[in-house]
Amino acid sequence: MDAKELAQGVIAGDRRSLARAITLVESARADHRAKAVELVAEARAAGRQALRIGLSGTPGVGKSTFIEAFGMRLLAEGLRVAVLAVDPSSARSGGSILGDKTRMERLSREPAAFIRPSPSQAQMGGVARRTREAVALCEAAGFDVVLIETVGVGQSETVVAEICDLFLLLLAPAGGDELQGVKRGIMEMADMILVNKADGALKSTATRTCADYAGALRLLRRRPQDPEGFPKAMMVSATEETGMAEAWTEMQFLAQWRRDNGHWESRRSAQAKHWFAEEVRQGLLAALTREPAKGSMAALGERVAQGDISPEAAAAEMLALLGR
Ligand code: GDP
Repeated sequence: MDAKELAQGVIAGDRRSLARAITLVESARADHRAKAVELVAEARAAGRQALRIGLSGTPGVGKSTFIEAFGMRLLAEGLRVAVLAVDPSSARSGGSILGDKTRMERLSREPAAFIRPSPSQAQMGGVARRTREAVALCEAAGFDVVLIETVGVGQSETVVAEICDLFLLLLAPAGGDELQGVKRGIMEMADMILVNKADGALKSTATRTCADYAGALRLLRRRPQDPEGFPKAMMVSATEETGMAEAWTEMQFLAQWRRDNGHWESRRSAQAKHWFAEEVRQGLLAALTREPAKGSMAALGERVAQGDISPEAAAAEMLALLGR
């Protein structure tokens, strides 16, 4: 099947075509890449847009429980939901965060939901590209909401924040000290902080945690892309399915406000620009590992080690070679 046919299957909403298309964009083979580029271009030409929601949180915070409950709620509203995962650690652990069959059992059985585990490849540039392209494919397939899940480890949040329209941070109730555990940079990326497990014995702790984060968010500089009161902290319980409706209402309000005020488009444009520059950067780095640059790097590196030439002069020579 060529790229055009596959794209047609995706746009027609055929799940098997979508699964095959995502497998294609995940492939590292050079011939697959060329086909994938054509496929994604065809898919993007369909001009469909979903609400892209990024969700980050450390393992155990309740991401999959939340996504299942939240996803089921969206389905009940007649929306189609796709779930993608970004998991840079999967290659190390040998599994994927969505690989476990028991996760999101209800959601995975729903015909209007599509769940895609993260592939077992770790290189961040590759993960980012694969996720962006998979999001584009899900949009072309007509999903209304694309949830992009990531474990809270360093770079992956930045990647997800640069792909999504709304970025949610899921936290668990915890003592006051824990507040410092969330890096300022991640707080600044969040559009909403959801304190999960606000139920049973954990409820009062959750209330305190939520108030702490609400306070911390108020101290951040107001961003132009936010209406009054955002970013905000809210409480949810994924197991009791409370707070979901409120959280969804706030997400829709924020998305609409951004649409009405031009921030939606400008965010997507800025993201496209970011990924263009990033792809160029990655391409240049990759070129260093291939001939002829690879040989020149090795030869110049050797001369630097021998003291023949300074590191700076060698670097200038290398850059001149690349800039031919
Ligand atoms: P993930 O690693 O972030 O995907 O977390 P999981 O969704 O697998 O949840 C981790 C554990 O927390 C499981 O034992 C869940 O049952 C539990 N959990 C998730 N959400 C809630 C919640 O809202 N309340 C309570 N009490 N437990 C929860």
